[in-house]
Amino acid sequence: MALLLINSCRKDRQNLPLTKTELITEARSFFENETVNLPKLNDNNVRHSLNKIPLWDKATIKKISIGEAVIVPIKYDYEMLLKPENDKTFNSLEKSSYLMIYKNKLQELQVEWVTVIPDEKTRGNKFVGTIAIEDWNGKFKQGFAFGADGDMLPIYSNNAITYRKIAFARSLYCITINHYGYVMDYPQIIGSETYCFGNSDGNTNNDITLKNGGGGGGTSPTDYSYTIDCNKVVNGTATWNEDCQTCIGGTTGLTDCPPKRSVTDSTTTPCIKEGVTIGKQANTTIGAMLNKTFGTSNEYGGLDLQFIEGNTGTDDGWCRKDGNVSWVITINQNLPNVSSKEYILSTIYHEILHAYLEATYPKNSTGMFLIPHDEHQDMAEKYIILMTGALKLNYPNLSDPEAWGLAWGGLQDTPFYNDDTKITDDQREEIVEINRKHKNKNNLLDRSGTYCN
Ligand SMILES: [Zn+2]
Repeated sequence: MALLLINSCRKDRQNLPLTKTELITEARSFFENETVNLPKLNDNNVRHSLNKIPLWDKATIKKISIGEAVIVPIKYDYEMLLKPENDKTFNSLEKSSYLMIYKNKLQELQVEWVTVIPDEKTRGNKFVGTIAIEDWNGKFKQGFAFGADGDMLPIYSNNAITYRKIAFARSLYCITINHYGYVMDYPQIIGSETYCFGNSDGNTNNDITLKNGGGGGGTSPTDYSYTIDCNKVVNGTATWNEDCQTCIGGTTGLTDCPPKRSVTDSTTTPCIKEGVTIGKQANTTIGAMLNKTFGTSNEYGGLDLQFIEGNTGTDDGWCRKDGNVSWVITINQNLPNVSSKEYILSTIYHEILHAYLEATYPKNSTGMFLIPHDEHQDMAEKYIILMTGALKLNYPNLSDPEAWGLAWGGLQDTPFYNDDTKITDDQREEIVEINRKHKNKNNLLDRSGTYCN
C-alpha cells in the first residue's frame, strides 16, 4: 500500500507540466551546455557557415505532436535569402528557420535547427515545400518534402547523393535550394544546397509511410510545418481567408479582405477617355496584360489601377504607385490640344507597360526590386513590337514606320535608343520626326495622324 502511494506520488510529480518560463529555461540550459559548442562543419554549405545566435527573449512554446516544443527565433550575422531553384519567391533565412527543443518519447531533450523553405505552391495553412532538420552545427538529421497533394516524403542532403550518384541515377529526384546574399542591394547567388528524395543509405523506395504524422520510431515530431503561417513567418499569426483567398493578419499589413480588383477610368476629357477606352478594351496583348494584371473581374485583392488626367508638366503621362496594390496613371490633360489620337494611345500604352512592369517584377519584403531593371530599357527590349502591333490594330491607317516610331516615344533615355544595337542614326532621326509630327496639331501642313476636335 505504501509502495503504491509512493509510486503514484512520483508519477504525479513527473506529470506536473512545466510553466512556459521553466520550459524555456530548461531548454536554454541544455542548449548552452550540450549544443552550442558543437564543432563547425567544414562542408560546402554557405548556410552552415553563418554565425547565428538564438533569440531566447523571443522564445515561445508550441504544441507539437509529442508534447510541447520550445521555438526560438534565430539571428544570423548575414542576411541570407533562400529560393527553390524554379521559384520566383525569396524566403528570408531568418524568417524561415528556428531552433526547436523538445523532449522525445524517452523524455530526452532534442535540439534541432529547422529550416522551412516554402514552395510557391504554399497556400494558406497548407504547407508545400521542404524542411531540413539539422543539428545546431548543420549536421543533417532528417528532411521532408511536402507536396501539393499533402504527401510527405523523406529527403536527404546532397552529400550522400554526390557520393552515391551512380547508384541513384535511376530514381534521382532532387530539389536544389539556392542561397542568395545582398550585393549592392540586389540578391546574388552565393551557394546552394540540394535535397533528394529517399534515404542517404540508398533506399529510395518507400519511406513514404512516414506521412500522416505517424513516424515509425516516434521519437521525432512530424509537424514542423505548422510553425509557419500563411505569410511564411515562423510562429506568425496570419491566417488564410478562404473567401478572398488571401493571407490576413500577422505581418501581412491586412486586417480584412483587400478590395476587389479593378481597372477604373476616371478621365473626363473626351479625347483622353477615348484613348483609355481603346487601351482597356482593345484585343491586344498589352490590353490583355493590363486586364490580367489589374483585373476587370470582381476578384478580391490583386492589384488595381486608375486612369486620371492632370497637369504633368512637360511629361506626357505618369504612372505612380499609390499604396501597395494600387497604381494611378495620369495622362497629361493638355495632350489633346497638341497630340494625335495615335500619340495619346501610345502614351496610354506606355504608361500601362510601366504599371505592368512595376506590378509584376519580383520584389523583396521592403518593396525593392529583386532583379535590377530599368523599365524603359525593358520596354525598348521587349515591348516595341507589341506596342507597334497594338497601335496598328487600333489605328489601321497608321503606317508600320509611324507605329514603330510612336512605340519608341518616351524611350529616348534608354541605352538601346542611344547605342547601335537596335537602331541606327537614321532611325533615331526618323523616331524624333514621327513623334514631332504627331504632336504638332496646330500646324495642319506639318502634322501626322488623326486628331480630336
Ligand atoms: Zn515612361
